[in-house]
Parts: sequence; structure tokens; C-alpha cells
Amino acid sequence: MSDQPSEPRFPVYIDTRRVFEAESSCSGEIALERLPRLREYLANEQATIRANLQFRIGDYGDKEISGQVSATLQVPCQRCLDPVDLDIEDTVSLALVQNDEQAAKLRPELDPWLCAEIKLQLAELVEEQILLSMPIVCKHSADECQQQMNYTGAASDAEPVTPERNSNPFAVLEALKKSD
Ligand SMILES: [Zn+2]
Repeated sequence: MSDQPSEPRFPVYIDTRRVFEAESSCSGEIALERLPRLREYLANEQATIRANLQFRIGDYGDKEISGQVSATLQVPCQRCLDPVDLDIEDTVSLALVQNDEQAAKLRPELDPWLCAEIKLQLAELVEEQILLSMPIVCKHSADECQQQMNYTGAASDAEPVTPERNSNPFAVLEALKKSD
């Protein structure tokens, strides 16, 4: 199925009963088809998403998930709609919890990842981490943006628009009514 045999396949899910005690890890590229929420934000399908994750029981007994996520992708510029390159890289510091009560007890340096199932879907976790790291506003820099010239031009040249009384369509309607 994979076109790139050199890249290790990222597992679809892990077994939460085993990986922490076994101190398992996994790394590789995650196909965009498995990241539907992230895909909605993209300008095109030219995206590479990678993750490496380690699972262990932490010193305080938490089921810790640590590692990195990275993404190279393109999103539409919020000014001109042409694609903008984005490189995202973030560290993962999560702990698996089964309910809100467990989440509330976590040390502040760990974010809870709620999963009461045996199978933890990894793409979902990676997707969420990348979405959290995406900038809120994505725009080209001023010199690269297609719309930049138009915008600054409009802003500096534009005079405030004040409609003339005679051109007011309601005034015309009023006049028509009166002539009835
Ligand atoms: Zn732009």
C-alpha cells in the first residue's frame, strides 16, 4: 500500500494495555487520508505529516505519551487565498486518562488525552496536536502576498464615501409616492 518503503508505517492504533508497560515507541509518516480534520484547512494535498511517540509509565505512575509531531503543508493565505507554506513542529507531552477525574489530577506539565478504549487511535492524537500548533492567522509576508498592493493602495487612496442626497434611492421612492 505504501509508495515509500523507506518510511516506516505509522501504526493505526496502539493497545493501551500494553504499550506503556512495554515502553513502546513508534515513528513515521501519517497519510493525509487519516487526518480529515486537518485536511479541511489545507490549500492542497501536498502535505507531509510525521510523528514519533514514546509510551511509558512516568515516575508518578502516569501513562505518558511524549515525542514530536511535525508537518509541512500549505494553507490558503487569508488575504489572497494563494497557498502559504507552513512548517509546524511541536513536542507532545500527554498522559492517557480514562475520565475527567483522572485528567483533573494530572501534573500541570502533562495535558490529558482522554481515551477509555483499549485501542488508542494515533492519527487522531497526532492530528489534534498539529491543529493546536497551527497559527490562528496564516498570511503571506507583505512582499509575497498577491493582495498586498491592492490593499495598501485602497487604504491610502480611498476617500470616505458620503452618498449625495439626490442619489438616495429612498428619496426617489418618497418622491414617487408623493406624486401619486
Ligand atoms: Zn497572500
